[in-house]
Parts: sequence; C-alpha cells; structure tokens
Amino acid sequence: MQAWAAWRWFAVFGSLALGACVSVEVPPSNPQTHLEVARDLRRQEDVRGAIAQYRLALGSGLVGERRAQIEGELADCFRELGNDSEAREHYTRALRNARSPQRRAEYSLALAELGFAEGNLGSASYYLTEAERLSPTDPGLRDRLQFGLAALAYEKRALKTARSHLDRVRGLEGFRTASLSRSRAFHDFVYRSVVESTPPRIESPTAAVSWLPRRSWGARALGANHDRMEKIWRITVHHTAMLTWETTRAASIDALQRIQRNHQVTNGWADIGYHFLIDRAGRIWEGRQLNVQGAHAGNSEVNRGNIGIALLGNFDAQKPSTEQLQSLRGLLVRFCGEYGVPANNIIGHQRIASTVGKTTDCPGDQLRVILPTLIRDVRTALSKQAPSTASPVQLAGTATSLAGPVGPH
Ligand SMILES: [Zn+2]
Repeated sequence: MQAWAAWRWFAVFGSLALGACVSVEVPPSNPQTHLEVARDLRRQEDVRGAIAQYRLALGSGLVGERRAQIEGELADCFRELGNDSEAREHYTRALRNARSPQRRAEYSLALAELGFAEGNLGSASYYLTEAERLSPTDPGLRDRLQFGLAALAYEKRALKTARSHLDRVRGLEGFRTASLSRSRAFHDFVYRSVVESTPPRIESPTAAVSWLPRRSWGARALGANHDRMEKIWRITVHHTAMLTWETTRAASIDALQRIQRNHQVTNGWADIGYHFLIDRAGRIWEGRQLNVQGAHAGNSEVNRGNIGIALLGNFDAQKPSTEQLQSLRGLLVRFCGEYGVPANNIIGHQRIASTVGKTTDCPGDQLRVILPTLIRDVRTALSKQAPSTASPVQLAGTATSLAGPVGPH
C-alpha cells in the first residue's frame, strides 16, 4: 500500500514535469499504474495530466482489449478538451483493437457523435448503423443510440421518426453524454420531447375568453382583395407548423408579424390568413377580423363562414401546451355559443382540406389526436349553456358534405 502510494506520487509528479527535462526518480513503467493514476487525475479534473498518463500506459505496447480500453479513455479526455480530431483518432484505434460488441458499440457511438459535432452526417450515419448492428445491452449506450438515431432523423426533417426514437429513451443522461449537435433547436426538441412526455391535460373551462386586438401586435392594414365573411357556421383548427417553445409576448408578436408578412407578401393575401392565433402561454391574438373571410382551409369555398384558429407550434414534433388547449377550448365554446356553430362543425385543417382535394399534415399529430376529446368537451360545455336561438347549418357526418353549398347568407 505504501509502495503503491509512492509510485502514484512519482507518476503524478512525472506527468507534471513532463517535457520540462527534470531529472526525477521514475518508477518502472507499469501500464496498470499509469492507468490508475490517469483515472485518479480525471476524477480530480486534471484532464491534461490524465492524458500524459494514458500515453505512458500505451507506451508499454499493450494490445487487444486492454489497449482498446485505454485508447477509448484517452479519446474521452480529448473530447472533454474539445480536441475532436485527436478524439476521433483514438476512438478509431480503440474500435480497431476492441473485440467485445459492447466496447465496439461504445466507440462507434462516440465516432457517430463526433460526426454530428462536425456536421458530417455521412460519417454519423455510418457509425450509428454499426452501433445499431451491435445492439448494445447497456442502458446508457442504448439511450445514446436512440439519441443518435433521433438526431439523424431530425437533421433529415423526419420529425415523427425522431420522436419515435426519443420515445424509447429512458433518461436525459445519455443525451448529455452524446451532446450530439451544436444546434440549439435540436437540443430543445430533444429536451421537450423527453421531458414533456406526459400528455397535456385540458383544464376545466374558463369563464370567458378574450383576445388581444390586432393593434397590440402591430398588424399591417387589411388589403383590398378580400371577401366579407358570410354567416359563420364552422371552425377550422390549425397549427402554424413552426416549432417554437417561446412563451413571451415579444416572441409571439414577432411570430405573428412574420406570418402576416409571409401571407401578405409571399402569398399575396389581403391579411394574415387566420382569424385567431394562440401562443404557448395561452394568449389569444386577433388575426384577420371576423367580418372578413379567412384564408386558411384550402380554397375560398371551404373558407366561407369558417373561423380559422391557429396554435403556434409544430404538433408533428411537439405537444400543444396545456395553456394553449385551454384557450382553444374556451374560444371554441365561445364561438359555438355566439354563432350557434354545432361542435360537430369544428374540424382539423387536414380533414376539411381533403374535401377539396388538398393534402396537409395540419394541425399535426399531437393536436389531431386531442381534437375529438376537445370537441366532446365543447359539446358538453354547450349543453350546459342556454340553448341558442340561432339555427345552425348542421353538418352531416361525412367529410364530403363539407364541400357542399354554404349555409344561409
Ligand atoms: Zn392549417
């Protein structure tokens, strides 16, 4: 024990004096000693000292699994220091020497992660395939593999596939190890997909909903090319398909202005297409005024008498927030009550668009699955209110009837 401690002290001292041409009493080179000292130094966060010890351990000509292990740990050190090219060099050597599938999978994953960090998706994809083939059993490695496959899918904009990989992840620890991408967007995507894995709840109804008028977000004026709104008899629900986690007023104002600019300048529309937009904090913003026909459902036929409500976000890749759903529900109850719109006439964009031969993912998987519950809730809330005197145009059960003639003027 005493001798071991002295050896270790010499080894540490040796590493500090390395390259300084100091004559000290150097103990006989023993790879195990250098390895132990290296790990000790790493625990003390002396990464450079650890690197020197790992190099000494390698100097004794180890081969096979033992060499693989040391090369791997040395590579980890370089990665910690942000020296990706040295890290890649040593992971490659580790992979070449390793025999156990577990180790091979680990080094393959590390090389894939370096590929992501360098923006080399070809390399990332190659090593991920290798790691997957080795089917690691260690939970940490399995998580890193799923994070890697999610990152690859995310880079290819296959958000559903990305999410399905994240669904298999057990914890965020693997992602910290992986640190796959320097992209903040991916980081947020992962974090939210994993953390917000419980389905959002729809809270009990709020008494009355109100909205922020269009002047509050600095809306540009309505253009001339618009139609007046006919009698309101249906409501279409959308997402903006723009992934966002922002909850501040300023961020929402910015998003609304960008959407309006896009609708007016790029699409040549009179105004922002939707009548209302709901941000992640649950704020309801007035879009196009209700006395003007919207531009959101597919064409002018399906836009007639149709209120367009869009939730900010991309619900193919994220879940709507509880606040958003609460506001949406409140708004639906209010309009159904005010205009005598039956709950059956609340419809997702995809379904109404299909009636005029258009295809869209809107309002995204995660909102689409909630919509039937939401509509049922609205129906229940309406049944508790005083019956409306309006005579709504009833929508027959099938989607095709939506394309039929509009209700009374
Ligand atoms: Zn839509």
